[in-house]
Amino acid sequence: MIDLRSDTVTQPTTEMLRFMFEAKVGDDVFGEDPTINELQAYVADYFGMEAGLFCSSGTQTNQIAINVHVQPGGEVICHEESHIYKYEGGGIAKNSGASVRLLKGNRGRLKLAQITPWINPDDVHYPITQLISLEDTANRGGGAVYDFEDIKEISAFARKMRIPLHLDGARLMNALAVNGVDPKIYAAQFDSISLCLSKGLGAPVGSVLIGKADFIKKARRVRKVMGGGMRQAGIIAAGGLYAMKNHVNRLKEDHEHARSIEKALSACSWIAEVVPVETNIVVGILKHAHERDQYIQILAEKGIKIVAFGDGMIRFVTHLNISQADVDQVVNVLNELK
Ligand SMILES: *Cc1c(COP(=O)(O)O)cnc(C)c1O
Repeated sequence: MIDLRSDTVTQPTTEMLRFMFEAKVGDDVFGEDPTINELQAYVADYFGMEAGLFCSSGTQTNQIAINVHVQPGGEVICHEESHIYKYEGGGIAKNSGASVRLLKGNRGRLKLAQITPWINPDDVHYPITQLISLEDTANRGGGAVYDFEDIKEISAFARKMRIPLHLDGARLMNALAVNGVDPKIYAAQFDSISLCLSKGLGAPVGSVLIGKADFIKKARRVRKVMGGGMRQAGIIAAGGLYAMKNHVNRLKEDHEHARSIEKALSACSWIAEVVPVETNIVVGILKHAHERDQYIQILAEKGIKIVAFGDGMIRFVTHLNISQADVDQVVNVLNELK
């Protein structure tokens, strides 16, 4: 099976497993796991941030960040299709008791002019705007990458308004592979960043939250309250550390693979449009929405697994375990189905 459902389906490589096997571990609730401490420091340094916190998932890092930044009754501003709102089980309401202002924007991304009208005035009628959250790359936008100039404008405005700016950087490494921005200069625009180790980076488990030391100190407390304090979790953190050191430079390969699939998919008569590929996500929009599941089934019978991505849409995601030969095979099958 060629599994293109998500970049979360990757299997750890032999080298990664060996690195995990040999990891030194300790009790991380006591702050004594040397591998977790190394991973947190490595990711924080990589982005020029003061501190990091290893967590079990990207949902957890996002939800912890929101909980630290926002008070109950406060308001979070984000894109209407952002993961923090759409795919985290109502966590903003449940964990933080906060209100959400959903905005429209091109392919999952926001521009400053779309945000400014929604900063609530100091008036008892309105919830207090306490957080702006961006997503880069934007999953529902088909892996779209922010224009860094747009981020800088939003960041400068948020600082002026004293509103914290969070980044859901589940696929931040894919974005940086495309925009070429220095990670430290990029990260300096944000108060907190959530980075997934288990997506394109190919580690089995985990995300890292980075920010200022006092922010991470508060985040560590919230992680414990949410039941996320793990003990000898250096075994899994080692997979993330290995991925940060060895799997970042190869992301461009996934992007090239995605472009090959985009080209073949665009030539299919049953496809109306392919969302222009920027990273490792290919979203196809069918001419006839009702044929979606039928095409997913036909591809599955030919050994290719993909997912439905909303009404009349399908998604292919390339990753570490998709080889050039796999991509050639997908292209052949799509050519047959033209
Ligand atoms: C995958 C993902 C997350 C985190 O999801 P988990 O499954 O909790 O690790 C967060 N944001 C985006 C945009 C994602 O794609």
